[in-house]
Amino acid sequence: MSKNLFIDEIISILKDELKDIDLPLVSKKQWDVIPHTPFTVLISCLLSLRTKDEVTEKASMRLLRKYNTPNDIVNLSLTNIQEMIYPVGFYKIKSQRIKEISSKIIEDYNGEVPRDFNSILNLKGVGRKTANIVMVYGFHDENYLPIDTHCHRIPNRIGWISTKNPEETEFKLKSILPKKYWIDFNHLFVIFGQTICLPISPFCSKCPIKKYCKKINVKKCR
Ligand code: SF4
Repeated sequence: MSKNLFIDEIISILKDELKDIDLPLVSKKQWDVIPHTPFTVLISCLLSLRTKDEVTEKASMRLLRKYNTPNDIVNLSLTNIQEMIYPVGFYKIKSQRIKEISSKIIEDYNGEVPRDFNSILNLKGVGRKTANIVMVYGFHDENYLPIDTHCHRIPNRIGWISTKNPEETEFKLKSILPKKYWIDFNHLFVIFGQTICLPISPFCSKCPIKKYCKKINVKKCR
């Protein structure tokens, strides 16, 4: 099945084309100054929701370079956290969530993020995307596949799958995408979706994989 979908070709082309672009979750700049732990990955991911990458990266560094454990965070006031993470989207709600999650991790998990997908998913404010990201980027577990809006939209456009929401996409992609590509997939498709295969009016004229794309539901290309 994967042969007809040109998965090998598409992944190979995107890896080559996008090799010089980093996301905050894998960016050297951020992780050079912040200890790379499941907890810091979790908090950085929460900060990134509905927020531009460059804003997330700076906010993560302001907060996590010094306060990078649940114990550090619970001792901060909400105002302190807000000042450090502003202007990420929903910074007031996020500062509360960050404190609540830190307390929960201290009380229920002895101060360590549990290495268990469902336990992470049960933390307040954490969805499947974030829980998957913590498993992949925090615990380096290759059995998980984070799906955000780009990772849902693009495989549907190019014709790999036909799904209605990111959760369905996660399960469907796991059945067609060879496991060796799971780690690369999220990283590549997020960058590709931010730079070329945009949600509205994608840059099809300069797309490196256009010959493999069925352009399903694409109303207008540039
Ligand atoms: S051809 Fe257009 S719709 Fe298809 S992957 Fe490329 S940019 Fe996206």
